[in-house]
Amino acid sequence: MSCSCLYDIISIIIDAFYPPRCPVCEKILSIREEMICPECLKRLPLVQEPRCMRCGKPIDSPEQEYCSDCEVHPHRFEEGRSALLYEKGARKAVDRLKFYNKREYIPFFGTCLEKLANESFPRWKPDCLVPIPMHPWKRAERGFDQASLLARELGKRCGIPVREDLLIRTRYTAASKRLGRSRRRKNLRGVFAVPEHIRTDRISIPRSVVLIDDIYTTGATMDEAGFALRRAGVKHIFFLTVCIGRGFS
Ligand SMILES: [Zn+2]
Ligand SMILES: [Zn+2]
Repeated sequence: MSCSCLYDIISIIIDAFYPPRCPVCEKILSIREEMICPECLKRLPLVQEPRCMRCGKPIDSPEQEYCSDCEVHPHRFEEGRSALLYEKGARKAVDRLKFYNKREYIPFFGTCLEKLANESFPRWKPDCLVPIPMHPWKRAERGFDQASLLARELGKRCGIPVREDLLIRTRYTAASKRLGRSRRRKNLRGVFAVPEHIRTDRISIPRSVVLIDDIYTTGATMDEAGFALRRAGVKHIFFLTVCIGRGFS
């Protein structure tokens, strides 16, 4: 029996016990529905134009270049894009991925990121993808690292290497979801670093990097990661996330 044949049989058995479900409504998908049911696909809160030229957040008028946040606060990245608004079904799907270990949703989120990559990468010309690192304690607590899985899925689809060695989290931080802008920034200050052996061996420092995460909210995480990468010699920093929050607080 060939290896791929065996793989197909195992997939059929697994599907019989754990049939693929829609990441938004959790309905069992029919054979023809690949990743999401048609009703949920129609209602997905896609990020549409006009959007901020820096962080990609939706803005009110096409005359504006930047959102009110990016107008006031300089960021450490050049540009970023997100596929979905962090609300309604998209919010439920991302929360289920993170808090209920729904790793089977990764291919769906990978498709969302791939669409953005196809639009942006010809301009950004990234050398590699870098997932926002999770502290080892948190990884042990959760059992998996969603940013790493998302980066690997996108890397596989786009043929771009994923560098998980480039950035490390230097300390454990409490969840910053409920903190306001300035407390969130303070909470994250100095939390990322490029390991010393990479900083000294500058040959392995890429020129252009795309940071990958599940959600962009205030940009504090991307700014801190961008700061560490820039200090190590990375010239161009971009980001892609599955979701983006509307608010800034
Ligand atoms: Zn659905
Ligand atoms: Zn912006």
